Amino acid sequence: MAVPLLDLAAHHRPLHKELVAAIEQVVQSQAFILGPDVGTLEERIASYCGTGAAIGVSSGTDALLIALMALNIGPGDEVITSPYSFFATAGAVARVGAKPVFVDIDPRSYNIDPGRVEQAVTSRTKALIPVHLYGQCADMDPLMDIATRRGLAVIEDAAQAIGSEYRDGRRAGSLGTVGCFSFFPSKNLGALGDAGMVTTNDPQLAERLRILRVHGSQPKYYHKIIGGNFRLDSIQAAVLNVKLKHLDGWTRRRQDNAQRYETLFQQSDLVKKGHVRLPEAVYRASGHRHYHIYNQFVLRAGERDRLIVHLKGKSIGAEIYYPVPFHLQECFQYLGYKAGDFPESERAASETIAIPIYPELTQLQQQEVVNAICDFYKDRDRGI
Ligand SMILES: *Cc1c(COP(=O)(O)O)cnc(C)c1O
Repeated sequence: MAVPLLDLAAHHRPLHKELVAAIEQVVQSQAFILGPDVGTLEERIASYCGTGAAIGVSSGTDALLIALMALNIGPGDEVITSPYSFFATAGAVARVGAKPVFVDIDPRSYNIDPGRVEQAVTSRTKALIPVHLYGQCADMDPLMDIATRRGLAVIEDAAQAIGSEYRDGRRAGSLGTVGCFSFFPSKNLGALGDAGMVTTNDPQLAERLRILRVHGSQPKYYHKIIGGNFRLDSIQAAVLNVKLKHLDGWTRRRQDNAQRYETLFQQSDLVKKGHVRLPEAVYRASGHRHYHIYNQFVLRAGERDRLIVHLKGKSIGAEIYYPVPFHLQECFQYLGYKAGDFPESERAASETIAIPIYPELTQLQQQEVVNAICDFYKDRDRGI
């Protein structure tokens, strides 16, 4: 039985009629640009994340870009972030003309290590971008403490973490100055195309984001600032309004799947023998279910590259998120980093593998994934 890394067909099948009806209704209304569905989604996401405002934008990448623009970050400024994330996190910083400055990750959570941030702050530092990687919040208390003392903005890259709760139950996107979300189809809440959202508790910043989203115009055709077209399509907002109702149920199933993997791996000896290491929910606090929303379930695995080939041979989806840390990317060579500068990020890039965790994954499929991984190490232990 093939087990894909993600099964969007199974995900959307039960919603097919409702999704088509929602799209049909936008076609009927002809309100394609910033129609009522966009406003409704913005209110619901703000309430879901616990923020004063949410501003719909065209993608998660554009969410990061417009957040940096709204905070007036540009040439001459430095922005501290993790070298271990999806490209957009650092790409957005470079695109506004600022300099990305990298700080290594905590190997338990794969998120930026707050203990290393302070020494990277200079007089040019304007902001921090913690990434809540794989669905677990970065360690925000010490980061916010540094940001407050040093007068820095904090842009949360919450693209993989919608609904994820930090220690005290506050949700991703409500912890920093602004939160950036992606509704790319593979995220826990995915559109049928590209879409994103920016959240904030600062009403002035929210206003600035809304103006920047429409070329900086206010009123129409009068431009005090230069923005762009960062709008969220009404059709995607209508789709997301249908899907948001199901998000908590999907998250619970991802968490149940994570728990089941834990049981299966513990039973299998793979952990005891040191072949695989399971992900850790580092900031799990009692009473909060959403400590980790498992956008990805990421293992550390011995002989990772050969394991992936083995799994692909058995039609089991597996992926590396991410194989090359930013400081070793060709496009960032001008920053002057070299191999060895961020050992934890480099180790994570060479040891980790994401296996299927999507909500529709069945128990049988999970067993199959674990069996396939067991087979690989059994053969290896026997020297095959
Ligand atoms: C997906 C993702 C983005 C970019 O979102 P898009 O909607 O694809 O532009 C940014 N950062 C992280 C960590 C992501 O996972």
